[in-house]
Amino acid sequence: MRLLFVGPPGAGKGTQASRVAHELGVPHVSTGEMFRDHAATGTELGRRVQAIMAAGEYVPDEVTVAMLKERLAEPDAEQGFILDGFPRTEGQVAALDALIGVDGLDGVVVFEVDEDELVRRLLTRGRVDDTEDTIRYRFRVFGDQTAPLLAIYGKRGLLLSIDGMGDIDDVTERILKAIETLRTIDDGQRTAG
Ligand code: AMP
Repeated sequence: MRLLFVGPPGAGKGTQASRVAHELGVPHVSTGEMFRDHAATGTELGRRVQAIMAAGEYVPDEVTVAMLKERLAEPDAEQGFILDGFPRTEGQVAALDALIGVDGLDGVVVFEVDEDELVRRLLTRGRVDDTEDTIRYRFRVFGDQTAPLLAIYGKRGLLLSIDGMGDIDDVTERILKAIETLRTIDDGQRTAG
């Protein structure tokens, strides 16, 4: 199963992606986490992206896409994956299409959340790139650049809208239920075909 998890910063998609990936037995691939690992271990890539991340800007597509391409080529991604935080630009959508095909995805899980609540959550998370200014900037960047990508996936009929507020276990449950409908549809098509 190949899924995307999309939501504004602080929507809890990282936590949920990790849980659901575990449940499905596929890797959780987070470009943000990969960049943070690089920054923490001081690789050349890490040094390159550190200031960009601290400012809440997007890392250039060619850098992000090259890193992701390498990750998806690893054997554990053969059975599927949950992508968290990628794609974030139209260029990245095109790059992903080139990698797995236009019909390569099974679904796009979209987190519906309350923005004020999110700002509160983020300020208590204590990540180094979480200052109030950075958070607000990341929201704007998400709205401007990433939210429009949902229109592309919407046209492909891939969107699974999830209420992302409330208890973490409840949200996981909602996602698993939504994914279950995909599997049923998938099985149905296979039976019919
Ligand atoms: P995240 O953990 O997904 O919120 O990502 C943290 C930061 O990493 C972002 O604010 C960006 O600076 C960078 N980043 C992560 N994923 C991408 C991506 N797909 N494209 C560009 N920049 C990214």
